[in-house]
Amino acid sequence: KDASGNIIDYVSTQHDITARKNAEKALKQYAVDLEESNNMKDLFTDIMRHDLLNPANVARTMAELALHEVEDPNIEGLLKTIFDVNERMIELIENASLFASLNDQKKITLEQVDLTPIIKRAIRDVTSLAEKKNVPLVLRVEEEYFAAANPVISQVFYNLLSNAVKYSPSESTITVDVEGRDAGILVSVSDTGIGILDSDKTAIFERFKRVEKGSVEGTGLGLAIVKRIVDGHSGQVWVEDNPGGGSVFKVLIPASQ
Ligand code: ADP
Repeated sequence: KDASGNIIDYVSTQHDITARKNAEKALKQYAVDLEESNNMKDLFTDIMRHDLLNPANVARTMAELALHEVEDPNIEGLLKTIFDVNERMIELIENASLFASLNDQKKITLEQVDLTPIIKRAIRDVTSLAEKKNVPLVLRVEEEYFAAANPVISQVFYNLLSNAVKYSPSESTITVDVEGRDAGILVSVSDTGIGILDSDKTAIFERFKRVEKGSVEGTGLGLAIVKRIVDGHSGQVWVEDNPGGGSVFKVLIPASQ
């Protein structure tokens, strides 16, 4: 009993103290583990960015030089394969380190920028990929479209456009429309490619989710990056069916913060 005559339940009080101590200990260990795993993540990101990308870029240059010199068609075929798989590796390293760095950024800084030149640049960047498949890229925009954005937004348009090219047949057309809406600037990338099932329309924006890819190579990181960047802009991204077959990816970026 205590001074006022109340019965104190020592067993359960002791039990509570032990439980709390254990919880505190677990929490401390968790903080240590978290710090360690963050350090590990930073280490891996650094390794990817510097130690893997450099030799991969050297290999790209060497393969290119060798391709210019080679005369034997068999060796040329082998060199092309080396070049292509190395390109895939470079893309994977770049995407993975971009994804990791977006994870680190608590909040991306936004300022008023005209999206039109950024979209034009992304179109230029996928042109050589599109030319290989004979796929013209049509941009239906002439005005300026200002939105609250960070330059990293260019990666959104690049990823959507390169997917549109990858998942479209040769000789088809890809169209980019930009419209001003009350809620912000709406950018639509339309293709007439393989399309996306309703049941996959949300999952494709998750990391490493790949569906109905046919023979197309990829990592499943592209749309996860798109979603993360768009979220950082407080925007929205989704996919609809193209009435004529294929898909329309839509991105809405708020006009102001
Ligand atoms: P990756 O293209 O590297 O697989 P993404 O994250 O860019 O990764 O895309 C995830 C999946 O979404 C792809 O594997 C593909 O199944 C589907 N997808 C993306 N864009 C298109 C598109 N334009 N048309 C059809 N399917 C697409």
